[in-house]
Amino acid sequence: MRRVNAFLLAAFLVLGMIFSGCTKNPSTPQSQLELQGGNTVSSSLEQLTKWGTSSCAVQSGYYYIEQNTIYYIDYASQKRIALCSRPECEHKDETCDAKLERYAVIFSTGEQLYLYYPEMLGGSDAQDAVSRIDVMEMDGSNRKTFYTFDLYDTIIEDLYTDGKDLYFILNSCDLKNGEYVNFRYELVRLNLKTAEREKIKDCAENEFLMGGTSDYFFLKKLIYPPEEMQNINLRHQAFVYDRLDQKEVLIEEWDNAEAVGYFNKGKLYLADYDTFDVAQIDLASGQRADLVQGEEILSQIGTAEGEKYFPSLKYISEKYLYFELTQSSGEKRMLGIDLENHRTKEFTLSYQIRTDHDEYEQFWTILASNNGQYLVCCGVQEVPIVDTLSNGAQISRTVPEYQYGLITQQDFFEGNAEGLVPIENIDLVWR
Ligand SMILES: [Zn+2]
Repeated sequence: MRRVNAFLLAAFLVLGMIFSGCTKNPSTPQSQLELQGGNTVSSSLEQLTKWGTSSCAVQSGYYYIEQNTIYYIDYASQKRIALCSRPECEHKDETCDAKLERYAVIFSTGEQLYLYYPEMLGGSDAQDAVSRIDVMEMDGSNRKTFYTFDLYDTIIEDLYTDGKDLYFILNSCDLKNGEYVNFRYELVRLNLKTAEREKIKDCAENEFLMGGTSDYFFLKKLIYPPEEMQNINLRHQAFVYDRLDQKEVLIEEWDNAEAVGYFNKGKLYLADYDTFDVAQIDLASGQRADLVQGEEILSQIGTAEGEKYFPSLKYISEKYLYFELTQSSGEKRMLGIDLENHRTKEFTLSYQIRTDHDEYEQFWTILASNNGQYLVCCGVQEVPIVDTLSNGAQISRTVPEYQYGLITQQDFFEGNAEGLVPIENIDLVWR
């Protein structure tokens, strides 16, 4: 299998979890992690990237990449700008500081910004297409290469940091007759000062880093069923790897058909497909607590007899858990749950998305949480643009132009759209 297919497969599985059937298989082991000296660990590795997106939040604002251009939303001035320091620049060609030569994932340690360029070799060995990490100042200036990976190396899903090193799972392989072969996976750390790389342990093919500390790592494994039972009992396992003792402890496991899991800051949240109960599992101690009763959720949405909903956990901030329920017909309902008093609200804050063939509703999306307020995506319009090709020919197309805003967590939870402070769009490269 070519590697790119493995990524697509993983994406499919994430979606598949939402829509898969509901065969209850109640077996959830609860192991206790026996740490040296009886200490408990809390997750100190900070998650730097969110797989499938290219964006990062810092104290002062939010960076993201769109149309191969780095944008910055500044909370103080409530403006969205191209991350370019040249006042005369129109941000349209390669001389612009904000322009990237190819797709990259942006992340920040809080002190500097980084760009991870996944490999774009497509079976070639062009050196300018290997995986690479660049570093730059927070204003986008002084961008330079920080680390260049070996040919065919690529990072699996997300990067984490303890402030000193980057932590991630690295996939290496060889190329034989135009096919990637001999896949190897290892958990590594990469020093942010010296760029020295060190292997922590070998990993399985479907193993993902979910946080931890510099000595204990929270990992997830996908256990595939035998070929003939495809899609029936794919299992997820959450476990802790102890680097010093070199041992693994299983914390929790669940079936693809019975629940959906969501990892956040050293905690695993499991939403049961049948009952909608949400449990919170502390990955360091293995301790399990019931967070929200499904009855509370069901009474809020008033489901009819026989109606099926599939839950997915969308976002967890300090005080609120956001929950999306997808009906078999595809219709969605969105709920917020106050984690302190378990009060539940249904959300209706949404915008319309129109394409040539379709029109549908999208709920406001929380992008970042900061000082009691959320940065949200709250609208989109298709803007017509004209591209001029190298032969002088012109083609028309549209690009989606998203609207962003800041809103207090309370206003968002209460569904109060008037509380929104819109972000002003400046420097849009397609304008
Ligand atoms: Zn520029």
